[in-house]
Amino acid sequence: MSDTDSLSLASLSDSWDREHLWHPYTSAIDPLPTYKVVATHDNRIVLADGTELIDGMSSWWAAIHGYNHLEINAAAKEQIDIMSHIMFGGLTHEPAIRLGKLLLEMAPPSMHNIFYADSGSVAVEVAMKMAIQAAISRSGSHAKTNFATIRSGYHGDTWNAMSVCDPVTGMHGAFGSALPVRYFVPQPASRYNGEWHPEDIKPLRELLQHKSEEIAAVILEPIVQGAGGMWFYHPQYLRETRKLCDEFGVYLIFDEIATGFWRTGKAFAWEHAGVEPDIMCVGKGLTAGYLTLSAVLTTEEIARTISNGEAGVLMHGPTFMANPLACAIACASLELLKKQPMPQILRNMESRLQEGLAPAKELTEDVSDVRVLGSIGVIEVKQPVDVGRFQKECVRRKVWIRPFGRNIYVMPPYITPDEDLTRLTHEMIEIIRSGKWK
Ligand SMILES: *Cc1c(COP(=O)(O)O)cnc(C)c1O
Repeated sequence: MSDTDSLSLASLSDSWDREHLWHPYTSAIDPLPTYKVVATHDNRIVLADGTELIDGMSSWWAAIHGYNHLEINAAAKEQIDIMSHIMFGGLTHEPAIRLGKLLLEMAPPSMHNIFYADSGSVAVEVAMKMAIQAAISRSGSHAKTNFATIRSGYHGDTWNAMSVCDPVTGMHGAFGSALPVRYFVPQPASRYNGEWHPEDIKPLRELLQHKSEEIAAVILEPIVQGAGGMWFYHPQYLRETRKLCDEFGVYLIFDEIATGFWRTGKAFAWEHAGVEPDIMCVGKGLTAGYLTLSAVLTTEEIARTISNGEAGVLMHGPTFMANPLACAIACASLELLKKQPMPQILRNMESRLQEGLAPAKELTEDVSDVRVLGSIGVIEVKQPVDVGRFQKECVRRKVWIRPFGRNIYVMPPYITPDEDLTRLTHEMIEIIRSGKWK
């Protein structure tokens, strides 16, 4: 317990919680410590003993405007007194319509139809179902039901989403033959800001040459691979993939659940490459971290192809589809993005993170790579991080950062003051220097 001596017991693991509550990807018998949060505001997390942490995670990419934002709170309070939920089957409502309009204003121009779903993983499920229904209807072949993707991806934790996550770092091992078998090609090695190596696209070309009869869609996280490895790759990969998908009659799905709503410096990451997907998933930042909601956007062509197909309808309809409260919150969040100079805000965050993380490049014994894009800053270290030890050190230093694998990274709320960005990057480097992460 020596690393935690300075923490009061009040903020450390609650024993009832430890005994009964499962946390993400955590053992029920030997969990890592959890810290009890009693409140949040702005870019701060308040622990039970009063300690305030600077948030570096935006609650897993979601809390883009920080916590307890007055305008979003007001929208939520207003909506809850009008109508918190109503079924979407046979009924509709203003928050869903308003959100749809706001989304289409921001989305790739070819997006036309919107399906609201419950979470990111479910959006990926729906996108995959859309692709299969459209592919069967377009080709007339029931064989076109598989998917291709690149390694080191992450698309969520439900069955099919999991099947397109990286087969090694993902969860394939634990589920064995229960998972559908997908086609994987290597992730592009060309860096976002580096040179384009044309051989990067060869494996996908070869795969589609041989297997396009079986493949409904290629699914990718555009530009930034998030929870699968925090890798930023070259926009040319997306342009080449788009060409191949068109050539071989395969749809292209962009999973923008992590990258959406300005996280990479653009409203959506497809803009880095200027190529549009056929189907696009958004989630996480959509509701600014308030409630779970996602959306799948697609082209008029796909919507029509599905509707002219065998089933005649898209076969999905969650109970909480287009939840009015979540939609009203999402509208408030998107309105906030609209009225702020987002490109400038993100350029500023990017240069602060670049500046702040630059000294990490000198720690060559421990650090293998440092990369920044938009408001995402990553230090890749040479051995897996001991998350429990690292986080104790974070809390002691009053910052909140949760690494995974060999990636120590931040993606702070957009309202983070410059001095707090500097604190985050400084503490990341100091913890690496201290060795209290191995
Ligand atoms: C988080 C994430 C998902 C899954 O979203 P959930 O809301 O956790 O189900 C899917 N794809 C990407 C790229 C993500 O980052």
